[in-house]
Amino acid sequence: MERLSGPSYLALDAAAWKRKREFFAASFSPCRLCPRGCRAERSAGKQGTCHAGAEARIASHNLHFGEEPPFSGERGSGTVFFSGCTLKCLFCQNYPISQFAHGEPHSVEQLAGVFLALQKRGAHNINLVSPTPYLRHVVDALEIAAGRGLRIPFVYNTSGYERAEVVAQLQGIIDVYLPDLKYGPSAEARRLARELSGAGDYFDSAVPAIAEMFRQTGPLQLDGEGIAVRGTVIRHLIIPGHTGNSVEVLHAIAASPFRGAWLSLMSQYFPAHLAPDRPPCDRRLLPEEWRRVRDEALRLGLDEGWFQELD
Ligand code: SF4
Repeated sequence: MERLSGPSYLALDAAAWKRKREFFAASFSPCRLCPRGCRAERSAGKQGTCHAGAEARIASHNLHFGEEPPFSGERGSGTVFFSGCTLKCLFCQNYPISQFAHGEPHSVEQLAGVFLALQKRGAHNINLVSPTPYLRHVVDALEIAAGRGLRIPFVYNTSGYERAEVVAQLQGIIDVYLPDLKYGPSAEARRLARELSGAGDYFDSAVPAIAEMFRQTGPLQLDGEGIAVRGTVIRHLIIPGHTGNSVEVLHAIAASPFRGAWLSLMSQYFPAHLAPDRPPCDRRLLPEEWRRVRDEALRLGLDEGWFQELD
């Protein structure tokens, strides 16, 4: 992969911007932006399964210092939390934002202003958290902000529940992808994906989408300050009582075309939202569960990235 001197969106010409704008406008209403394809008439004010409607809704935007080091750096990641989510994870730690859609509507102009304000505060990047339902607004706002001096890369921070055809249209816009890979391919893992996240087709959607992300960006590239400028990092949160699912995910990565992506193995699970009523999801991870998954990652040679230690 070639190294870039700046974010790839700076290289888009007027015709390319127009094609992107048209694709996302057409995919937005009736909406087919995510694998649910619920076809909500969002331009008429209807809400989709993810709670997204006509306007972009944002729950918060701020400098965030808790991401992996290449994202937060010393000055922070310019994190924009979008309201709603295409998944229905019953253990979601951000459930007021993802499941109850807390947030405020923002016009495209205001969204462009948010990006520019984060850059002015020193953010290393614009970190879009759960942006899929709002890609139309993001692309329109980015074009405005780029014309007004935005010069930092975009990080696409997603549950992984994506359509590969939509991700393909993000080429030239997104430089760094940060997808989850939550569930494996077995019948048991598909049952978990359906019961815990409301998406039995999760694996079949996420794997081609992540393959497309990796095809566009390759492995992680860092600048002289150690900040991510291009690449794909896969996050996996270990769910208590379901280490077999985590091992499946690791095997799927090791056998995939994106095995060169960096891995962020996360142990921070705590029982949020509906999880306190759903054993074994009603507790934290046990040390032996953590060791089993970590050891399997190491055995498979997936050692590029971060293994979050148990508290
Ligand atoms: S992004 Fe939301 S509105 Fe669009 S298809 Fe998915 S669930 Fe429906």
